[in-house]
Amino acid sequence: MRCPSLPFGVACWLSRLSGSLSRRLGRGGGTTFPGLVLHRLRPNALAELAQGVRDGVIVLSGTNGKTTTARLVRSALDTCGVKVVANPAGSNLERGVATALLSVRSPDIALFEVDEAALGAVVAKAQPRIVVLMNLSRDQIDRHGELENLAQKWRNMVAGLAPETTLVYNADDPLIAELAVSHPKTVAYGIEDSSVAQEDLLQVADNTACRRCNAALAYHLCTIGHLGHWACPACGFSRVDPEVQVTQVEFCGIGGSRITVSTPNGLIEAKTSLGGLANVYNVAAAVATAVTAGVSSEAISEAVGCRQAAFGRGSAVDVDGKRVTILFNKNPVSANENLRMLIRETVPLQLLILLTDSSQAGQSGVDVSWIYDVDYEALIDTGRVASLTVGGARAHDLALRFQYAGFDPQKISIVRDNAAAFRTALSACDRGGHLFVMPYNSQQMRAIRSVLVDKGLVGEMWEEK
Ligand SMILES: [Zn+2]
Repeated sequence: MRCPSLPFGVACWLSRLSGSLSRRLGRGGGTTFPGLVLHRLRPNALAELAQGVRDGVIVLSGTNGKTTTARLVRSALDTCGVKVVANPAGSNLERGVATALLSVRSPDIALFEVDEAALGAVVAKAQPRIVVLMNLSRDQIDRHGELENLAQKWRNMVAGLAPETTLVYNADDPLIAELAVSHPKTVAYGIEDSSVAQEDLLQVADNTACRRCNAALAYHLCTIGHLGHWACPACGFSRVDPEVQVTQVEFCGIGGSRITVSTPNGLIEAKTSLGGLANVYNVAAAVATAVTAGVSSEAISEAVGCRQAAFGRGSAVDVDGKRVTILFNKNPVSANENLRMLIRETVPLQLLILLTDSSQAGQSGVDVSWIYDVDYEALIDTGRVASLTVGGARAHDLALRFQYAGFDPQKISIVRDNAAAFRTALSACDRGGHLFVMPYNSQQMRAIRSVLVDKGLVGEMWEEK
């Protein structure tokens, strides 16, 4: 039975109330529940809330890098003194967006990271001023289906965009570039510095056929997965010269990079504490978005320099005299990028990797076969893996994968419980050493976070800006 829609103000008030009750009852921070309630009480409320945002809505999406990029843009907007509403990491479905909009009265601007599959519905309702498309690669196949399903959803979304909406997109991703070129108002970004290139496309590269004629694309610069400088030798469709270009990158280990970005408003030079090439793309996306939103180059440079990693996205914390860095990855592209970053480190590598599936309550996904697309062999070839603990319901799958990759199975600790696996990995790590934790699932990241919250070392998810 369908409930009659409540008046807007009443529906919002009741939904906010449900959030405070949820917190008081110890059911979490209410980062999605009020939005869910609101949708039931007044299905069109998200559109109405979005209309009330004075300077419009920005949404960004992509398989990898949403949270980090959103936080960088947020910092740039904060530097300008505008009142921003944003959704916390992980609350990136329609209900999370609605909950965030309920939480701030009369915001100047709204900034949302949105799940790839939820993007179409959020864009249709929020009618954003800027849509940012970052990258698309294989991820959660059992949820999203093959990549082509998502690509088609995004194609429909772009076709339905208002002409005045600016589409900010990654020119290095051929799939996204093909979607974007049909839109009248675009800002492209990409990496120009050839020193960051890989010798060849990795095995995990998707989308390497021309989206127009299906011929194999030619690459003269490969960066991550199928990203790079591409062109179709058959029909001539090729990467555009982006308006926002990363012209120079100097890696400073896992602790960050120095980046120079050329924009229509001049050069932006920044030292970021976010390490690795994936974060160079995130900075490029954030710069392109902030420039489009009207933020000054000085404010952007300051924001990129100040922003620390979001929890789990390369964030580090000292636990019992040991450094712990958490690198969330959930698909072969992001897992390989994190391994590349670790391979560049010179310290002994103490590792905890967590893998689970939907046999565990509250977990999503059944497919774990993608671990066979991750290049653990390159990691083991460094000879610097000092300790390895695998955890989660599919810990044995990981152990087997490492055995196939040539790692001595006698040296692998297998602990299925996430928190217990963390304790085991921590005690295996020498005092003064560096433990790298790689949860392959957001619920597992929360499990690690809980351990650190209990120790008073980090805050709760809903407290993070
Ligand atoms: Zn072609």
